[in-house]
Amino acid sequence: MTRTPRIGDHRPASAEIDGLLRLVTATEGTTVETVSPLDGGPVASIPQSSVADVDAAVAVARRARRGWAALGARERGRILLRFHDLLLDEQHRLADLIIAETGKARRDAFDEIAHLALTARHCGRTAENVLRSGRRPGVVPGLTRVDVHHHPKGVVGVIAPWNYPLTMAFADGVAALAAGNAVVAKPDAQTMMTALAGLDLLHRAGMPEGVWTIVAGPGDAIGGALIDRVDHVCFTGSTATGRLVAARAGERLIGASLELGGKNAMIVCADADLDAAVAGALRGCFANAGQLCVSIERLYVSREVYGAFRARFVDAVARLDLASGYGWSGEVGTLVSAAQLGKVLRHVADAEAGGARVLVGGRPRPDLAPWSIEPVVLEGVRPGMQCWREETFGPVVALDPFDTEEEAVAAANDSAHGLNASVWSRDGRRARALASRIEAGTVNVNEAYAATFASVSAPMGGRGDSGLGRRQGAEGILRFTETQAVATQRLMRLAAPAAMSEERFARVATTGLRLLRRLGR
Ligand code: NAD
Repeated sequence: MTRTPRIGDHRPASAEIDGLLRLVTATEGTTVETVSPLDGGPVASIPQSSVADVDAAVAVARRARRGWAALGARERGRILLRFHDLLLDEQHRLADLIIAETGKARRDAFDEIAHLALTARHCGRTAENVLRSGRRPGVVPGLTRVDVHHHPKGVVGVIAPWNYPLTMAFADGVAALAAGNAVVAKPDAQTMMTALAGLDLLHRAGMPEGVWTIVAGPGDAIGGALIDRVDHVCFTGSTATGRLVAARAGERLIGASLELGGKNAMIVCADADLDAAVAGALRGCFANAGQLCVSIERLYVSREVYGAFRARFVDAVARLDLASGYGWSGEVGTLVSAAQLGKVLRHVADAEAGGARVLVGGRPRPDLAPWSIEPVVLEGVRPGMQCWREETFGPVVALDPFDTEEEAVAAANDSAHGLNASVWSRDGRRARALASRIEAGTVNVNEAYAATFASVSAPMGGRGDSGLGRRQGAEGILRFTETQAVATQRLMRLAAPAAMSEERFARVATTGLRLLRRLGR
């Protein structure tokens, strides 16, 4: 594993930081310092919001939301398309901020900028169609007209994690904006500057003040207050916190979209292109240093090619470039915090204590960045070990052979999570048939996660412990609406006329129902 230069000259300037900090809704004067995982040095002094500030932010959003909804889907779409353009124009500045706050490799920072741009384009272009009112068949053909409308929910709360601090803080909210809602966001405490830079771009794209506000603070201090005040909550984060969010939303009977953790499996069939599968596994397991909800933590390989795959994969992992800094060279950045490093080390030690073998990696690399670690490939991970079922959320993957496809599918489905999976085979039809048997919200064939994640016109989300609801696609926009049916009845009431007995009405209605069935209605 090679060493490349550390921090370049891209550290965000303090004038830029100060300008962005004014966008936080916080009045009490308390601040919290954030540090960069690149070197443990300071990034920013973040003003902290109180419950009263959350109240104020939601009130501002409530006032702004009517004007935003009244703009109409087409005009909102134009603003989102300008946001798309600004994201691409300002990508270098945004990437610098993302790297400063997360320590991720620059290629991973670019991925999230591209994902948010894709999402903004998708929402900007499709929302008008998705939201258009439509007609449905009425109960009495010709006499009952039914119109279906999609109204914005009102104010949507977005609670986001640190791992993809730009796209996880904005991709869902952009869909909520497209649907005509205002947003109050609570980004993760570690990655506030990236979220504020995104908000600045939304303003520059033409989104009116107040339509998107941001509060800052620990989730257990102000997250609940936000859920208590909004009309829908969109949460991305751990399964444990997701349960708390769902319970609180349940108390208020508001909708909750939950994008939670994964324990994602990849299956390499005997007929797979092994070079492509090894390259896919490298990215699938170690993009964003494994701190990615859809990343691969379980790798099942046909025994027919297990030896060959194992040798090539282990060799490629050993040669990964762990650069830490702002340059393009690094393939795997650092972990974000001492807590993340601690969890990775605990999972590896626990697996080894249970008899698993480390095939490569596992050495902390404080010479590169305080919480950097060499990516780990484990073999012999068995039930009872922590990393058998628990999401590690780090650069650790368990490698295992399988003999039959039945066995591979059963192993992939042996998880409480159901977020993402990946299947590799030269036979696309066979791979897709196998994919449909995997209990996960997305399955990628001959890709690890990027094909579904970037195909923003298709729904994406988790089953089981991985969440509720779907982001992306039309579903990702419609979840932020209240659907309303308006039925207009003409000429006759749906009840017995005054001159008709209830018994006769029932007979006439029965004849009508039989007729409709025969007519195929
Ligand atoms: P986390 O659950 O600790 O925190 C996520 C957010 O929730 C943060 O903003 C935090 O401040 C807030 N929060 C914490 N306690 C809260 C509470 N009681 N009420 C309301 N909000 C609260 O998760 P994390 O460690 O930041 O993120 C990593 C997790 O996120 C991983 O499990 C990962 O798989 C998951 N994730 C899922 C997706 C997805 O799309 N499914 C995407 C990214 C990350």
